[in-house]
Amino acid sequence: MAWNERIHNALQTRRDQHLWRQRQTLASAQGTRVFCDGKEFINFCSNDYLGLASTGTDELSAAALRWGTGSGASHLVCGHSQAHHDLEQALADYTGYPRALLFSTGYMANVGVISALAQRGDLILQDKLNHASLLDGAQLSRARMLRYRHTDVGHLNELLSEREGHAGETLIVSDSIFSMDGDLADVATLADVSRQHQALLMIDDAHGLGIIGPQGQGARAHFGLSTADLPVYIGTLGKAFGGYGAFVAGSDDLIDYLIQFARSYIYTTAMPPALADAMQGNLQRMKDDSLRSRLQARILQFRQGAQDSGLPLMPSLSPIQPLLIGSSDKALQLSSRLREAGLWVSAIRPPTVPQNEARLRVTLSAAHTAADVDLLLSVLSDCWQTES
Ligand SMILES: *Cc1c(COP(=O)(O)O)cnc(C)c1O
Repeated sequence: MAWNERIHNALQTRRDQHLWRQRQTLASAQGTRVFCDGKEFINFCSNDYLGLASTGTDELSAAALRWGTGSGASHLVCGHSQAHHDLEQALADYTGYPRALLFSTGYMANVGVISALAQRGDLILQDKLNHASLLDGAQLSRARMLRYRHTDVGHLNELLSEREGHAGETLIVSDSIFSMDGDLADVATLADVSRQHQALLMIDDAHGLGIIGPQGQGARAHFGLSTADLPVYIGTLGKAFGGYGAFVAGSDDLIDYLIQFARSYIYTTAMPPALADAMQGNLQRMKDDSLRSRLQARILQFRQGAQDSGLPLMPSLSPIQPLLIGSSDKALQLSSRLREAGLWVSAIRPPTVPQNEARLRVTLSAAHTAADVDLLLSVLSDCWQTES
């Protein structure tokens, strides 16, 4: 009975607080146009920033004919194929590291890497707005975790000085582009601070890979850092990459260490080799800088129009362009009015974002047209004026 009550009460609280989450079931492939509930929507909430999620179907079919559907086992048993191996090398080359190691998802990469590296007695310092998987990894590690104020290097330095002279190692962890705010951490300064304090720096570039840096090579290249400056690099294949999976890039020793000790690498089935094979095509397409120019044009267009209409923009130069609404209720109402107009923009509410910081998370893609963004701006501006 106690269990039933706990579950029931938690559900009721979620509903009462306008925090109920539900899934929308798509009837079409991912893209800027999606079908849902028999209606077509222009999609402004995908992380498919370059429009690559719907490409590569010929490569995937060919890869499936060669490799089948399943990998059959974990990498350390008999699930590691040449397709995985080649993709790891290609990802290492692309991001500029000696080696890379594939994980099934970014969530698992973050949990596995942090919990393998940090131990009881160590200190993990994380940006307040880091992704949930980074926080979960720290909990699993049993190290002490402190969170510094969002992108506040002064606060990070304070926490580090208090720590001076303690035993144990220090790991500094940050998103590059923050998933719900769209702003970019100053990774170059984080690298300086890490070096000064002999801390290890880990950057989760889930939203930066494919978006920043020449050819989309990500945060390390964007900031002109060496691999020693940024020794632990996380990239994911589910966002700009348009696929599924993730990887860690780093030194030979780091990768060997993770193969030995990262439990979310060891105790799980390898991703389907056909998928790994097909990701090579997306990697080649992703290097085309004209995709990023198109994306950049849409971002500027959106920001200019939103500013002209007095919409509550946040300081982001990335394809993540949230509008800060405040109350969860109001964010939901705006989201549903946009849906009635055939525009899909998700309302992001606590606990994904802090209390009273509910927002519409608009995401833009290189595959959006200027007309798509104009339509979004005009509907948003109408809704905003009548709501406030
Ligand atoms: C999406 C995301 C992840 C998780 O990656 P998945 O491959 O979707 O599991 C990790 N970190 C950040 C910052 C993300 O936005």
